[in-house]
Amino acid sequence: MQEYKLFINGEWVESSDGGTFDDINPATLELIGKIHKASDEDVKNAVDSAEDAFDSWSSTPAPQRAKILFRAARMLEERKEELARLMTSEMGKVLKEARGDVQEAIDITYYAAGEGRRLFGETTPSELPDKFAMTVRRPIGVVGLITPWNFPLAIPAWKMMPALISGNTLVLKPASDTPIMAIELVKILTEAGLPKGVLNLVTGGGDTVGSAIVHNKKIRAVSFTGSLETGKWILGEAGKEMKRVSLELGGKNPIIVMDDADLNLAIDGIIWGAFGTTGQRCTAASRVIAHEKILPALLQKLIERTKKLRLGNGLGENTDVGPVINNSQLQKIAKYADIGKNEGAKLALGGRIAHPLPGYFFEPTIFTDVTPDMRIAREEIFGPVVCLLTASDLEEAIRIANSVEYGLSSSIYTGNIKNAFKAIEKIDAGITYINASTIGAEIHLPFGGVKSTGNGTREAGTTTIEEFTELKTVYIDYSGKLQKAQIDIE
Ligand code: NAP
Repeated sequence: MQEYKLFINGEWVESSDGGTFDDINPATLELIGKIHKASDEDVKNAVDSAEDAFDSWSSTPAPQRAKILFRAARMLEERKEELARLMTSEMGKVLKEARGDVQEAIDITYYAAGEGRRLFGETTPSELPDKFAMTVRRPIGVVGLITPWNFPLAIPAWKMMPALISGNTLVLKPASDTPIMAIELVKILTEAGLPKGVLNLVTGGGDTVGSAIVHNKKIRAVSFTGSLETGKWILGEAGKEMKRVSLELGGKNPIIVMDDADLNLAIDGIIWGAFGTTGQRCTAASRVIAHEKILPALLQKLIERTKKLRLGNGLGENTDVGPVINNSQLQKIAKYADIGKNEGAKLALGGRIAHPLPGYFFEPTIFTDVTPDMRIAREEIFGPVVCLLTASDLEEAIRIANSVEYGLSSSIYTGNIKNAFKAIEKIDAGITYINASTIGAEIHLPFGGVKSTGNGTREAGTTTIEEFTELKTVYIDYSGKLQKAQIDIE
């Protein structure tokens, strides 16, 4: 059985107290690795090593830092298939989606490497003569990165690469369900030439290792992706020390289907959005708000298509839907199926734990007769469950779309451009797709949500550099005399 150690100050080291935990394949329940569990002392050492490395790394010209990232991107490309297979074994998502996850990591690595020759500030005229004004970007310092299991390579890469190109040094804590993917990424960056101490990895539980990162005084910023509950806690704790926090949290993403929509196209989008990654995406389409006129036809087609989905090991050629991540998630989804029935929704399909293999499988599930006040219509289930709601017009559909506390992704299927633009204008979400599903973000556009989905930051795109840098404003007065802004010139 392969053991996976912690990475501190450029060395793979065992946990100082000898603790380990198991990494399990969620489709087969096979043990795929023994993972070292970091102690408080290990976390402290990781942060200290990142602090020691900061001066040298932040002084390295960004285009030189970029060379390491370009090398890492090429190595990721060369190892794409191997990493995708490993990901499917560790996390469960079907192989073609795992390849997409690796590709996303490749894309963001190239994109961030390119930032090495940008990292733009601004120049602007001064209000005074013989005076120059500009902004420059500086790294924040030692940054803690805490990541979830559903994009086990892409999300660590989304955070690490922009943070590194910006000159920060890092302590990464990946999800306990998928540490191996993050470990592989750290190995690649190290092989690509990242100096010791710049990137440190500590594996172990959120309430111990994650909490120790959040509370360490030398950590200047925490970048977190995960659940609303954990995000709120981190924001509160880190806020006490005035740390910068960026949060990418949950979603309850709607697809609106209007009576003028191409129904077959909408069904393709619903199936992909609701059951892709077994519904375990922050952008999953967990609500369909259908115009009442097309609801019967939509439901019939949706049931027909969903029945054809094949559950199984994500490595299987014919598998459409893989397992969910672990037993507690499986039980949570089953509990929500009961909640839905008890609150009066009608189970149109699925609703049960399935057993194609010993692992954690749940049937693709469709609820109809769902009303906006029901818990299944408001709370994030994070499994293959889709709720159908109805609306009599676009205004009502948008009101329902906006009636939840999250605001990440959204979509509308319509043949009418007026409906499309109304949706762009009125839906409270960080992302709106027109005639496409709620999932499928591209790395060169900003990603994030409104309301309880986050605290206003955006990952990826040009905004990703803002997450990991501080702006300094610089005034250079070459007049040779005292000039007073707002006073000498009104
Ligand atoms: P989670 O339970 O909040 O865990 C996320 C990470 O936080 C894990 O590494 C976890 O460690 C750690 N953690 C847990 N408690 C902590 C604490 N007290 N202090 C510090 N760290 C702590 O979320 P999850 O179940 O892994 O992920 C699913 C959630 O992520 C969903 O809500 C989904 O919508 C959201 N998500 C959002 C986005 C986005 O960009 N908006 C993207 C993907 C996923 P352990 O693994 O050891 O528990």
